[in-house]
Amino acid sequence: MKAWTLRAPGPVDGHPLQFNDVPAPVPAADEILVRVSACGICRTDLHIVEGELEIRQPHVIPGHQIVGRVEALGKEVTGFKLDQRVGIAWLHRTCGICAFCQSGRENLCDTPQFTGWTVNGGFAEFAVAPANFAYLLPDGFADIQAAPLLCAGIIGYRALRLTRLDERKDGWAGARLGIYGFGAAGHVCIQLARARGADVYVAARDRERHQALAQELGATWVGDAFAEPPVKLDAAIIFAPAGELVPLAFRALNKGGRLVLGGIHMSDIPSFAYSLIYGERSLGSVANNTRADGREFLAEAARIPIHTHVQTFPFTQANEALIALKHDAIRGAGVLLVNHES
Ligand SMILES: [Zn+2]
Ligand SMILES: [Zn+2]
Repeated sequence: MKAWTLRAPGPVDGHPLQFNDVPAPVPAADEILVRVSACGICRTDLHIVEGELEIRQPHVIPGHQIVGRVEALGKEVTGFKLDQRVGIAWLHRTCGICAFCQSGRENLCDTPQFTGWTVNGGFAEFAVAPANFAYLLPDGFADIQAAPLLCAGIIGYRALRLTRLDERKDGWAGARLGIYGFGAAGHVCIQLARARGADVYVAARDRERHQALAQELGATWVGDAFAEPPVKLDAAIIFAPAGELVPLAFRALNKGGRLVLGGIHMSDIPSFAYSLIYGERSLGSVANNTRADGREFLAEAARIPIHTHVQTFPFTQANEALIALKHDAIRGAGVLLVNHES
C-alpha cells in the first residue's frame, strides 16, 4: 500500500514524511483492517513529525483521526461487518488491568498504545485497530466532516468536561468560557459550549482564518492571542501549545475558575506571581480520552449537530498539510483525502 512514513523527525518545512510503498497491515485476531477514506490532521501529528514527542516506533505512519470502511475482520471480532464505516482515534489500545483502566480512567493507562505514534496510523491506504477501540460514526457526517471529530472533537469535549462548568449553580447557561487558540479543536469546542448555553471568548493569533471563524461560530468576543477579554472568565481552555499563555489566562480568570490545557505538548510555562492563581483558581491538563468520552461526544455532536469546517489536502500532500497547520493557514480542521474523491 501507499503510506507516509517518518524518515527522521525534523522541521516540517524540510518534508520529513516520505511517501512509500509498504506492506499493508494484517489484522490480529481482535483487530479490524480498515480501508482509509480520510484522515484528519492534528497538531499532535506535527509534534511527532518534528520530534517534540519522542520516537516510539521508527518510521511510524502518523495520523489518528481515521475514517474508513472495514475491509477485513480478525477471527475473534464480533459486532462489526465488512464495509461498515468506522472511525479510529488516538487511543489505540489500553491494558485493561492497571489501576487506571480498572477505575474508569483508561485515558491514563500505564501501558497504552497510541495510533500514529506508538503504532502505525492513517496517513496510509489501510490501517488496523482493535475492534473494541473503533467507533461507529453517526450517519449525519460525511467522511471528511467526521474525521476531525475523532481527536479535535473528542479532546475538546473532554477539555470542556474538565472545566467543571457542569458544577455551576446555573450549569452552562451564561457561563463565560475562554478559548485560547482556535484551530480544529477550538472550532468544535465552541459549538459544543454554545449549544450548552455558554458565552465564549476567543483569543487567537490568526485574524483572517481563526478569528473570523470564531466570529462566525458565535463567539461573544474575539481578540488577538495575547488580548485580555473584557470580562472575568468562569473557565478557560488553552489549545495553543504556548506556555506563555498560562499566566495570561489566569489573569483573565474569575475566582474559583479553572484553566484547562488541551494539548499533548506545550512550551515551558513562565513563572508567575502566586496572586494569579490565588482565589481558588486551578489548573488541569487533558490527557487522551476514554472510549466513553468518544461515544458520548459523537452522540452529542450528532444531536446538535456540530458542523466541522474542513480544508482538504490530496493524499500526496501530507507534508504540505502539516506545513499549513504549523503556519496557521488552515481554517477549521485539515483533512487528508486518502481513498477519497476530492
Ligand atoms: Zn491500563
Ligand atoms: Zn490529535
